[in-house]
Amino acid sequence: MLTYPWQEKQKQRLLEMQHQDRLPHALLLCGPEGIGLNEFARTFAMQMLCLSKDIDSGHACGTCQSCQLFTAGSHPDISLIEPEEEGKQLKIAQIRELIEYVTLKSFSGKLKIAIIEPADAMNRATANALLKTLEEPPPQSMLFLLSHRPTNLPITIRSRCQRVDFEPALDQTAINWLNSQSYESNLPAEVLLRLAGGGPLKALSMLEDKQLQHRYTLLKDLKSLTKKKVDPVQIASSWQALGSENIFITLMRLIQDLIRLKLQQERANLVNLDLKEDLQDLVNSLDLVALVRNYDFVLFKYQQSTGPMNYNVLSLFEEIVVNWNKPKTAKYCL
Ligand SMILES: [Zn+2]
Repeated sequence: MLTYPWQEKQKQRLLEMQHQDRLPHALLLCGPEGIGLNEFARTFAMQMLCLSKDIDSGHACGTCQSCQLFTAGSHPDISLIEPEEEGKQLKIAQIRELIEYVTLKSFSGKLKIAIIEPADAMNRATANALLKTLEEPPPQSMLFLLSHRPTNLPITIRSRCQRVDFEPALDQTAINWLNSQSYESNLPAEVLLRLAGGGPLKALSMLEDKQLQHRYTLLKDLKSLTKKKVDPVQIASSWQALGSENIFITLMRLIQDLIRLKLQQERANLVNLDLKEDLQDLVNSLDLVALVRNYDFVLFKYQQSTGPMNYNVLSLFEEIVVNWNKPKTAKYCL
């Protein structure tokens, strides 16, 4: 197991700390979705537990008893704690089990390691249950907390972990890696990475669903709406059929690009780089204030769709399309 090429800086930093025996008991790994936080934590944990690792490279040997157990997924000194259902919160009982687990003596005599993913799936009560362990960690324990949304974590948790940030991977290293994955798409790696928010693994998974195709549909619909050549209600219902969250996100990214084009024209740093001509075509018939108001409005509706009130997605989309040509002020949205 190796870390990904865009994680080199973070790996070196932690290896150095480990070498100097000043690794903290709790690390908070943060970065965009698809940056490989889980793979990083597991790879790092594997070399921590390895019985004959290469000191210079910091790589686990891959063959010792510990590495074999690790690779088989049956090492007793590492545990992954995640919500029982995707998107749900972690339960207090899971945190209590985790605390008991890291307090027990390790099998290998080295460490007891736990990975909490996503750490922001802890609410106030579960976070409080973990607090004492973070304040007074058992001597052989090591916790990896992983999060794509660290601001959702209670400050009490954040302040008791050492934070390691992974920036969005958009540079040549990530482009080269993505190109080496021999994916099937006519989109260049650079565009895919931008669309994936700098998460190379997300870029790959996006190719497997229809998300990327939705951009063409939405852009075409925005053009028709602008020209008033279509029934807005029909558009809203077709968007609903495509999904919810990814439609909101795709829509916001398209409007952001329209704003960038309006402001910076040729120099605009677009996410939907491959749609530049179509976006340019549309931006000529829109004004900046209307675009900014529309962006605020879509963001507001998106927040409503993910909030606790269970808004009807079709109604939210209808409000967006009806609003498009006569956008209300942002004040209305707050
Ligand atoms: Zn080993």
